[in-house]
Amino acid sequence: MFDSTELTTCFRKIHTLSTKNIYYKTDDEVELIRHSCHLVGKAHAAVAAIMRPGLQTQRLDEIAEQCIRDNNAVPGFKGYDGFPATLCISVNEQVVHGLPSTYELREGDVVSVDCGVIANGFYGDSAYTYCIGEVKEETRKLLSVTKKSLYKAIEKAIVGNRIGDISFAVQQYVEQYRYSVVRELVGHGVGRSLHEEPQVPNYGQRGKGVKLLDGLVIAIEPMINMGRKEVKKAADDWTIVTADGKPSAHFEHTIVVRKQKADILSTFEYLQEAIKNNPELIDIP
Ligand code: MG
Ligand code: MG
Repeated sequence: MFDSTELTTCFRKIHTLSTKNIYYKTDDEVELIRHSCHLVGKAHAAVAAIMRPGLQTQRLDEIAEQCIRDNNAVPGFKGYDGFPATLCISVNEQVVHGLPSTYELREGDVVSVDCGVIANGFYGDSAYTYCIGEVKEETRKLLSVTKKSLYKAIEKAIVGNRIGDISFAVQQYVEQYRYSVVRELVGHGVGRSLHEEPQVPNYGQRGKGVKLLDGLVIAIEPMINMGRKEVKKAADDWTIVTADGKPSAHFEHTIVVRKQKADILSTFEYLQEAIKNNPELIDIP
């Protein structure tokens, strides 16, 4: 959830970016990021275990913060750019950066939960969109396609490819279904900072952009709208919502670029186990 406020700036940056601000990670640093990502996965599972209709989203935030602090780590988003919470919780037409609140979850809601953790000086970052009870078939399809696009993108995150190969993989896959890619928000490098170079857009051209080298750690995070691509900021000055009010989906992994195959540092394993054990939630393939 890197907010590249000016789209044109974002474009220019992508195509002229030098590699001098990119920090490639040593194997030891990668393991520290994996540890932070592991705690993100645990926080997701803690949240997934209690999600149900009637629960206020601020309760999810409390549970996630407790889980992170119990593991001697610190919420990565809290205080970042003034963000007030541990989680970004974005419901239905909310795309990202939603604020935990007294809003009570309802049957049929889709809820994007984005979580960051910092431990040992390194961040981890991962997001998942949850279904509260029976969600409309067309909305579940949006989630499923968005999740698959994340893995299509990860397949391209190998040494020798370029950022544009990742971007193109997401865009090509989701546009087949007539969904649209949010332009104003992009994935990003991850390390000692939550948002490092390079930016990782979810749209773009094959063969363009920064070349991927061994040890590059990035968060890949498709944000995909059922309807039109346009988004706007809500009155709270944080939450990004779709301009047409239709649902949006968001899935994110932190990965490290390797030679044959990217290594996925974050994990959905714990949260998927929690969904299985929570009768109020359904998972999507
Ligand atoms: Mg991110
Ligand atoms: Mg995130």
